[in-house]
Amino acid sequence: MTGKVEGGTNLFQATMEAAQVGIFVMGEGRFIYVNPFMRELFGYSEDDFQSRIGPLDLVVPEQHDIVAEQLALRAAGVPGKAYELSGRRKDGSVFTMSILGMPARFGNLPVSVGTVLDVTDRKAAELRIRELADFDALTGLPNRRLLHDRVEQMIASAERENGSAALMFLDIDHFKRVNDSLGHSVGDELLCALAQRYAAVVRKVDTLARLGGDEFIILLPEVTAAAAADVARRVLEIAAAPFSVGGHALTITPSIGISLYPQDGKDIDTLLKNADTAMYKAKDLGRNTFQFYSSEMNMATLERLMMESNLRHALTAAEFELHYQPLVSLENGEIVGVEALIRWCHPDLGMIMPDRFISVAEETGMINPIGDWVLFEACRQAQAWIDEGLALRTMAVNVAPVQFRQAGFVEMVAGALSTSGLAADRLELELTERTVMHDAEFTLGTLSALNRMGVCLSLDDFGTGYSSLAYLKRFPVGKLKIDRSFVMDLERDADDRAIASTIVSMGRNLRLTVLAEGVETAEQLALLRNMGCAMVQGYHFSKPLTAARMTELLRSQPFLHES
Ligand code: C2E
Ligand code: MG
Ligand code: MG
Repeated sequence: MTGKVEGGTNLFQATMEAAQVGIFVMGEGRFIYVNPFMRELFGYSEDDFQSRIGPLDLVVPEQHDIVAEQLALRAAGVPGKAYELSGRRKDGSVFTMSILGMPARFGNLPVSVGTVLDVTDRKAAELRIRELADFDALTGLPNRRLLHDRVEQMIASAERENGSAALMFLDIDHFKRVNDSLGHSVGDELLCALAQRYAAVVRKVDTLARLGGDEFIILLPEVTAAAAADVARRVLEIAAAPFSVGGHALTITPSIGISLYPQDGKDIDTLLKNADTAMYKAKDLGRNTFQFYSSEMNMATLERLMMESNLRHALTAAEFELHYQPLVSLENGEIVGVEALIRWCHPDLGMIMPDRFISVAEETGMINPIGDWVLFEACRQAQAWIDEGLALRTMAVNVAPVQFRQAGFVEMVAGALSTSGLAADRLELELTERTVMHDAEFTLGTLSALNRMGVCLSLDDFGTGYSSLAYLKRFPVGKLKIDRSFVMDLERDADDRAIASTIVSMGRNLRLTVLAEGVETAEQLALLRNMGCAMVQGYHFSKPLTAARMTELLRSQPFLHES
């Protein structure tokens, strides 16, 4: 029956056979008629269609469901819309086809009459058009239009997720000279080579685009200012090596401006404009550098860069020093312990306080060797004092979260104790609430191991985190240190008084020693004493001192009768 339309006229038959589009008639899930064009399109013979080839054989297996669904719709009399499928020929080759089926009747049989078009060429042309519209013809990078799309997408998702991003404007210093002296084709080649190098620096989620001329943009979603500065530095580095273009060795330098979303702009135009402004600032600074749009960012990253590179040398150059601040018992005014506080004595910059470099050390991983040094040095000093006959009960050492979580931390502590000969119960590790609450199960394991060794643990800056009482009970902590921010305004602020006194009584109920940090005045001291606070630390007694001066203080115990 296939190939002949029953009752059809010759004209009808001739039309079907001459048509330059695949035409089929289908009933009960089988082909009733397939015209020659369609047979050729799929490479099957008339016989094939008659005996064994059904509609599912003509599409890739992944799309069988779609075909089955469409067949059911046609059988139910629902007219079709043109839709695209991946067709499969007899030889296995795959092409994109457009299908349009309509329900009809053939005698008493409900059938579906359809057409099939090979749209491979049209798809390729569409893709090419899209490429022309979205990509830069010279470098193949996204162009301004596509960049707009990407920035808009970025902003949409950043708004939803409170995200951040950086937009980097890159311009080649004196690019015009290359074009003017060596010609445009050399200039073009240089731009392509440069684009390739830039591409090596960006992540998959970033967009590297060319605006035109020698202007490139890098869009970095989900980055901090520091990370954007890192990328900018790598761009400068990677652009620095000479290019060999058209028989010339060319050296170029970019200038880079960075704007940050959302603080420097919440739409593409503002972000571009501000990155451009920052780029001109970089040129003013002598080119081959980068600048943030906001000047605070520049200061912050400059300082950070300085810290980062200098921190690496500081340990080997023995630029760190520990100072010690007395921990005073309110019972009798005795100095029962000291807290070791690190100082960085920089040869040019003088003494740098930990608040300025500890966070950089944490982010770069330098905190581990630095923290190890602090621990060994503090234990050594404590034992030296004890050997001198001074009654030092506690050496308190601050431990950064990263350091606490590093593998082998417990062994490190054991090493510091055995090297110095210090008894474990003389060492007290100060952890912040955040360190302890983060991943509580893991923390608990480490804390318990330290506790079994006999090492004391205290919660530093207490009140600023979010410890729950239930948790506190589970952790083998011996001391709470009330954060200085609650002590500062104790005389004036009733809320702070309430918080401090709550911590004191809560601590006592849990049988923890409570120490107040940052006590500067006699009034604060009196209030804390009334609350029943056991220990204090602060300028009222002493600032942190060098080891030599601390030795004198331990010897003279000047606060002994003050209580
Ligand atoms: P912290 O552990 O809470 O140390 C107390 C800080 O308060 C010290 O600042 C101390 O000098 C200061 N302070 C003490 N009494 C008073 C006072 O009466 N008034 C005022 N205004 N300040 C007072 P410092 O030495 O600058 O240390 C700051 C922070 O840096 C420390 O806070 C600690 O978190 C961290 N840190 C210090 N040394 C180390 C260390 O060796 N390792 C780690 N990981 N962090 C450290
Ligand atoms: Mg501390
Ligand atoms: Mg503290």
